[in-house]
Amino acid sequence: MTVPENFYSKLSEVYDAAVASGDLIYAESTTKDLAVNDISYHLAIASSLASKPVPDNAEKPKETEPEIETSEKPFDPFDPPHPALLVLDNFNNDYAVVLNKFAVVPRHFLLVTREFSPQSSPLRPEDLEASLQLIKAANKQSGKRHVGFFNSGVNSGASVTHKHIQFLALPDGFKPFPDDVIKGKYGRDYEEGQRPLSNDTLPFAHFIVPLHEVEEGDDLGFRYSTLLSRTLTSLRLHKATPISYNFLFTEEWFLAVPRRAAETKEGISVNAVGAIGLLLAKGDEELKIIEERGPESILEEVGLPVREEDEVEYDY
Ligand code: AMP
Repeated sequence: MTVPENFYSKLSEVYDAAVASGDLIYAESTTKDLAVNDISYHLAIASSLASKPVPDNAEKPKETEPEIETSEKPFDPFDPPHPALLVLDNFNNDYAVVLNKFAVVPRHFLLVTREFSPQSSPLRPEDLEASLQLIKAANKQSGKRHVGFFNSGVNSGASVTHKHIQFLALPDGFKPFPDDVIKGKYGRDYEEGQRPLSNDTLPFAHFIVPLHEVEEGDDLGFRYSTLLSRTLTSLRLHKATPISYNFLFTEEWFLAVPRRAAETKEGISVNAVGAIGLLLAKGDEELKIIEERGPESILEEVGLPVREEDEVEYDY
């Protein structure tokens, strides 16, 4: 199935109605733009995050426990999605498109599986294909550039166990750092199936592949699995459990970031968009801490150290 021609106008209509009825929470926020070492950061207070439910502690595996997927579903806002937030009830047979109830930007939306599927399971080629179709349609129909993201594992910032991929429009003029990486600014060009790219000036492990017109689910799946194997190797080397990572994408690239903590020592939660420099604070106090520490120190704390390439002979 293709994305309907009126997808974005329907999304906007449902968004306006849900804000008016109080079914969706979004508040304009203070924002600050800065650049550190040639990387753009956009700091924002997203007060809706303060209302967002926190994951049930019972869901969090203890450090010593292996990661086991339980059949319990303690908190599932997508089964079924709230009717006031529903944009497409059947997309590509397997999915619904829903507005985020606690929007960090206007029209923040989600692709959710219609049947329960665990957020901790890897993305399937179908998930990636549907995601790319949606992001292309959103970009084309809105004239804004969107980023998609997937938080997986308890240290990734994920709060819902039902599989969901999120989408939001990037701030006008904002340039996520992978844009420069895929243009070869930090060394080399990507060779199919070879080591992913990165910006080695950043103090946290991350892996990037360009997409270059790749559209088929299997090809997207191959690129995603290249990043996943690097991610699993990093987590294994640093004994970071349970498996947690952020996965982000635009039309142009995939980015994966292994994670060792969901929040900083001060309790500032960092999810996937933090990895590309969109750092969200719940209020003034958190914003001040992020500014004082600097974004790189925050990302270094919740991510994993960059590994030396000769440290391992093989990936996971
Ligand atoms: P994550 O926290 O990464 O697992 O993403 C889950 C997202 O679902 C969060 O951004 C929440 O704001 C959003 N959310 C929570 N409850 C609902 C709901 N009832 N309807 C739509 N979105 C929700």
